Amino acid sequence: MEMPRTAGSRRKDYNKTGPTESLPFRFETGLALYAKRTPRPFPPPFLSPPSGSFSDPLSTHHMSRDRRTFVNGELIRGLTNGDDAVYVSDMFIGANDGVGAWSTRPGGHAGLWSRLILHFWALEIEADAQRIRPAGQRYEPNPIEYLQKAYEQTIEATSKPNKWQGTTTATGAQLHYQKADSDPNAPATPLLYVTNLGDSQVLVLRPHDSELIYKTKEQWHWFDCPRQLGTNSPDTPRKNAVMDKVSIKENDVVLAMSDGVIDNLWEHEIIECVVSSIRKWESGEGGPSTGDRTGGAGGGMKFVADELVRAAKVIATDPFAESPFMEHAVEEGLAMEGAHITMRGKRSKQYRKLMQQYGLSFGFREPYQVILDAEIIRTADRFKMDLVAGLERTLQGQVKPMITQCSMRHLYAASKEPGMAAVIDQAKTYERRRCNHLPEDYPEPLSTKECLSSVVDPKGNKTNKHRYVVASQELEVRKLMRGVMGVPLVYINRSVMIMEPMAGATAENREREERQKFRDGLKGGRGSGSLKRKREEDEAGEKGAEGETTGEPKKTKKRKGPKGPNPLSVKKPKKRPEQAGEGSEPNAKPKRRRKHKSSAAKTGVSTDATDAAGEDDGDD
Ligand SMILES: [Zn+2]
Repeated sequence: MEMPRTAGSRRKDYNKTGPTESLPFRFETGLALYAKRTPRPFPPPFLSPPSGSFSDPLSTHHMSRDRRTFVNGELIRGLTNGDDAVYVSDMFIGANDGVGAWSTRPGGHAGLWSRLILHFWALEIEADAQRIRPAGQRYEPNPIEYLQKAYEQTIEATSKPNKWQGTTTATGAQLHYQKADSDPNAPATPLLYVTNLGDSQVLVLRPHDSELIYKTKEQWHWFDCPRQLGTNSPDTPRKNAVMDKVSIKENDVVLAMSDGVIDNLWEHEIIECVVSSIRKWESGEGGPSTGDRTGGAGGGMKFVADELVRAAKVIATDPFAESPFMEHAVEEGLAMEGAHITMRGKRSKQYRKLMQQYGLSFGFREPYQVILDAEIIRTADRFKMDLVAGLERTLQGQVKPMITQCSMRHLYAASKEPGMAAVIDQAKTYERRRCNHLPEDYPEPLSTKECLSSVVDPKGNKTNKHRYVVASQELEVRKLMRGVMGVPLVYINRSVMIMEPMAGATAENREREERQKFRDGLKGGRGSGSLKRKREEDEAGEKGAEGETTGEPKKTKKRKGPKGPNPLSVKKPKKRPEQAGEGSEPNAKPKRRRKHKSSAAKTGVSTDATDAAGEDDGDD
């Protein structure tokens, strides 16, 4: 996922214009971004066409690709990084982590939410800090209230003229100071107001002692679902945000980060990285400074931020690196597949990809038919999970929940247990899949394993005929289903919904299909045994899965051959004109080729691709 982060340190009595003039301390800031995904442009009315005359000084980072964005006639503060937003000023730094799932919904724009909340938050802080007060009344920051107002203004700004949906976490650190009440002449000391809602983080380090001073507590509804502000979320700043006051010292480093850094670097690694980067900076590395380099001053925070993001990126892109998220995931029993699920955003991306693969290779379509066993319905109830919402999040599409007769009977069998009435009522809302294991024939309901295997693979030929997704808590059921081709498997582990990686048989099949495509790409024709084609044929009327009819496949091939999806097929058009250009045989070649194709089609599943390729080479 994205990993914006900002690093701040403070310098005393730094004379600067702006809202912090009267404050005795200021942040020295730097920030670094790493977005896996290019941010989407903001929708109107927030986006104005780019101005050629000058650029927004707060939005010129090359990765943000921001054009000039406005709200209420004011330039939107901060930077966008994927769906996230970051902001740095000399009195406030923040990182809001927009929830990426919104990007798949119409009218969803988490990046807008994360940025607007941060923008309004920063404005509220400045406005209150600068307010003229009666003599003797000191300014006392109230960050949660600022965030509440920012939240309300964001709701308003995203409601009209268009409605834009999204959610975001919010984390920020405002720098202020304190004075001992007993001694009016005592010097002020810096005091940090850290506000958090969700799972982004603020860390405070003391590089001098290589020590972690403070860390925000992550707030979760359940694993992988942080508290968040926005559409349909019950969380609000006033109710749920937490604020801590942290006494800090000059030269402490304050980091505001989204999970991109925290998921990939352990605390000790973050500390090590910050400390060593500051040392490097002090010794003259990391680029030119604007002055004294001690403790990372004079522009060193930018270098520190860059180094930290670089370190996190190394871990994030290394499929074998261990990371805090991975450790957490192992604890949670998540299935591991390389680095692809090392981060929340990545896992969701991984699931999307998985479902795309199931779609391409096995013809899965929304709404996905999900067969639920009794136990997963009970488990969801135990964790107060909305099962259907969880399934839609995991499968990233609409679902049609289904339950078999036998599973229903499993629930009835437990109807005396507390809370079961509600569970049964819930289960009744799901579509009943008639498994035909009638009570007359089966006084006892079949086991989940027996019932589901007869429903999913009725002929026992290892085929998921009706393209079911199986959501089962039983390991034995999932084990069995892994042997059936193309069955997406879902279960709940400690309140986390997990989709298994493609099972060996399924993945192998997919690979074979890829290899086939590869060959076809070389050939310019399509192999006859590919599942993709089977699917196309299925769609054309659910007939002849093996493609025995010669007419229809031929047609498909003619059309598909030249613009095959495989990059290697790019080679093909090059060859063709050459061949055609040879002049003497322009007619003979296509004829011959067509002969290969039709023969392939006739022989059905057998692979003619290799022979044909050989012949083709001979031709050249
Ligand atoms: Zn049954």
